Amino acid sequence: MIRPENVIREWVSNEVAGLRRAATMVGEVTGDAATRRRFERMIADTAEQLSAISPALDLDTNWATLAEAREKIDQLKTEALCYIQGMLYRTHRLDQGSGQAVDALIGYLTSAAQVPNGLVTGIAVGPESFTSTINLIRLPFPESSVWELPTVAHEAGHYVTRVLTRPPHDDRHPLMELIGDRKADASEPHLHEFVADAFATYTLGPSYPLTAMVLRIDPTEVNRPSPTHPAWRDRVLTMAQVLRELTLLLRTRTTEARSAGVYAALAEVVVRQWKRLTGDTDPEVEIAYVLAPHLAACLIDHAPHARYHPGPHLAALEGRLAGDDWTVPESITPAHVLHAAWMWRLRHPDDLKGREAVHRRARALLTQGGTP
Ligand SMILES: [Zn+2]
Repeated sequence: MIRPENVIREWVSNEVAGLRRAATMVGEVTGDAATRRRFERMIADTAEQLSAISPALDLDTNWATLAEAREKIDQLKTEALCYIQGMLYRTHRLDQGSGQAVDALIGYLTSAAQVPNGLVTGIAVGPESFTSTINLIRLPFPESSVWELPTVAHEAGHYVTRVLTRPPHDDRHPLMELIGDRKADASEPHLHEFVADAFATYTLGPSYPLTAMVLRIDPTEVNRPSPTHPAWRDRVLTMAQVLRELTLLLRTRTTEARSAGVYAALAEVVVRQWKRLTGDTDPEVEIAYVLAPHLAACLIDHAPHARYHPGPHLAALEGRLAGDDWTVPESITPAHVLHAAWMWRLRHPDDLKGREAVHRRARALLTQGGTP
């Protein structure tokens, strides 16, 4: 018989069955046991939330519990679907290998920052984003080109913010503490964005701000913040200031004092492009001066191996990406490949054919053992 208490039971059992089916599908598309376990654990937590629904409680309370649980369930299902799409997309090689390049970059960033690689990727319409439920980076459909890859470092930055610890006190998270300490300067969501931007700039150098300026920023809206994101003007100029701060901080450390100026030079590359893009004649913002010293110091102190070192081989690498007969220098990182690719692109703004070739060669270099 159709009675309200029976209906809620039906809904709950449907939700649990749906979640189990989603978990099975995730298990079917992934060869990665850790991802499967993480997803199953999230599902077990949600199922436990549903178990609070009981005939002993009044119907209003039960429906309120169900409504709350369904929000989480929908989010989990969306992430499972995004992940499954991404895996199928890769399996059928529809991504032409870009997933492998993304994995190589994520592997490099997490290892350099000395954090566990607990990130997974999926594919969806819209720009990149990160959700902490299953540590999922959504990549844009239909494809993540090499030119867009630096934004993955920003999304990885959201993850690193949460998992970077301060040895030997592994329960302390210096980037989260920084956000807690600076709440008078900006809202919490905005501080998370500034930290993720700083991480991407610290690990990749100028290729991240350049990607943002060429592929993500609407130049007519640079001064408009949203509840979740600061205005692009504040963001880009803070990225540039983080690079300048690296020079200032490293000058005080005698072993690296001589090469420290390279970061100030990279900051000028960013500011020059910013002026060209926006016509901004006075590219300074207060928030950059307030936050950048803390961001740069925290990253240098707690992710010392993740800092981008441009090195002497960039010109040779750029030549190789352009198809010239250069030997690929040893000990290059994904950060070097992306920087060299962007240097080429800035020098050849109208060469669309060449751009596609550089993209293919860079992607081959990023994926293991690839021959450009
Ligand atoms: Zn973000």
